[in-house]
Amino acid sequence: MLSGLPGGAGVNIAHEAVDRHAAGPLQHRTAFRWIGESGDVQELTYGRLAALTSRFANGLAALGIERGDRVFACADRIPELYIAAIGALKHGAVFCPLFSAFGPEPLYQRLERGDARALLTTGRIYRRKIAPLLPRLPRLQHVILADAAAEGTIAYPRFLDAAPDVYTIAPTDPEDPALLHFTSGTSGMPKGALHVHGAVVAHYATGAHVLDLRDGDLFWCTADPGWVTGTIYGLITPLVMGVTSIIDAGPFDAVRWMRLLSEQGVTVWYTSPSAIRRLMRLPPGAVRKEDFRRLRHILSVGEPLPPDAVAWGREVLDRTIHDTWWQTETGAIMVANVPGRPVRPGSMGMPIPGVTATVLQEGEAGAVGVVQDPETAGELGLAVGWPSMFRAYLGEPERYERCFSGGWYRSGDLVRRDADGYFWFVGRKDDIIKTSGQMVGPFEVERLLLSHPSVADAGVIGKPDAMLGESVKAFVVLKSGIRPDDESRRELIAFSRKNLGAAIAPREIEFISSIPRNRAGKVMRRLLKARETGGAAGDTSTLAE
Ligand code: ATP
Ligand code: MG
Repeated sequence: MLSGLPGGAGVNIAHEAVDRHAAGPLQHRTAFRWIGESGDVQELTYGRLAALTSRFANGLAALGIERGDRVFACADRIPELYIAAIGALKHGAVFCPLFSAFGPEPLYQRLERGDARALLTTGRIYRRKIAPLLPRLPRLQHVILADAAAEGTIAYPRFLDAAPDVYTIAPTDPEDPALLHFTSGTSGMPKGALHVHGAVVAHYATGAHVLDLRDGDLFWCTADPGWVTGTIYGLITPLVMGVTSIIDAGPFDAVRWMRLLSEQGVTVWYTSPSAIRRLMRLPPGAVRKEDFRRLRHILSVGEPLPPDAVAWGREVLDRTIHDTWWQTETGAIMVANVPGRPVRPGSMGMPIPGVTATVLQEGEAGAVGVVQDPETAGELGLAVGWPSMFRAYLGEPERYERCFSGGWYRSGDLVRRDADGYFWFVGRKDDIIKTSGQMVGPFEVERLLLSHPSVADAGVIGKPDAMLGESVKAFVVLKSGIRPDDESRRELIAFSRKNLGAAIAPREIEFISSIPRNRAGKVMRRLLKARETGGAAGDTSTLAE
């Protein structure tokens, strides 16, 4: 249960996440355990986290940071980042995490658009990327360096040492802004979604009923806090639930990940299809020799979880991977496979209790109606009013308004609902291919291609076509040792026709060396489209190298 601020002073995420636990029996429980690349471990208990985050909040107050001011962080998954997040929320500032691998221009864009007043970062990032930007960021008055000293910046140890470790959170209204999150930039320029303290109700509800977090759990969310999943489920929710989380501070390494799961005794694991795809390439024997007895629950988010990934989980880990759907805008999981309900592989499950989701179709004059027939694809809509709903797109009020129609939030994703109420992802509205009057979700075609033994990766787009409107074109990365020749091409086209039918199968296949994906692992089809049509590539700040 949540407690609210003492004396009925409202609701503050930092209080629910840390202070109320630190004041009770959980004060000596480990909140976070950071594991470095070389296996070095650092831990913070709830009690210690409460003291350090209070110091951070006091430090912000001493700098003159006011409620509602924006406090940013740009760092790897180091303890200081997590302390800054909770400290900023305690102080009533709006916290905004930035992915540490962003280059200077994406950092500038976000710091400028987000009106950053203070930034926590590291010496390396500061020297290489932030310092040259400062003349263009006059509003960014305070830079705190976690691990270094530089002229004109504040050294983190001194920042904390000078501050008392008690901080009384001021009354906080559930509608007070708390978090600013930039979207992944899969479909265009990243949007800044603003979230409020009242969202903690949804963090709690999904932590309990979807992640199924229980007393004594050891949780691992593999997402970086630079993405919304890493902040909501890698930082806030496990704290709100009072469990211990591990944080892998190193880069992705499939073998080390499997070992971490078993050696640490992770009980609940939240990861992504792109990570699972990479684990699936490990020899099953290497995975099976690990001990997953403590692992009770596995979840996935970010992209569709294909049935063969569910099958792999069942076969190799002996667990069912539960797909969940949500967006930066929704602030928490909305549609999910919850524990106890049978999973239909390939389906993202059903709306969670308290969320009303439906399938919308475009009606007259921009109005929307609800699709009644099962199996008919339409836009996934959510009834307005869930607690973690975003309250604004930063600086884009009209764009925000356009997301709502007839009491529904329009997600921009297409889905269908089967007769039993399970939702199935079809594609993003922007990516849908219209070919001879038929709607084709590129993901459906990619999934089929990926099931072919020669294919390592695939991205599918609609190519302008005078006859068909659009024709289906696939970009394919072949596995090493397979020749990118006409025979391979014919084989893949025949395979697609046989399985998808001639109308949906790609008419054209181009072999390339890699599919553009962003750092969150999502296929950036707009870049494939730009490559095909010679159009503008648009924002590429989140593209993985
Ligand atoms: P942008 O809005 O900038 O284009 P983005 O939509 O990728 O980027 P996020 O908010 O991080 O930014 O991602 C949410 C999107 O990810 C969803 O709208 C959906 O398209 C996709 N997604 C998330 N979970 C799932 C899932 N379980 N199945 C299919 N797609 C998913
Ligand atoms: Mg989006």
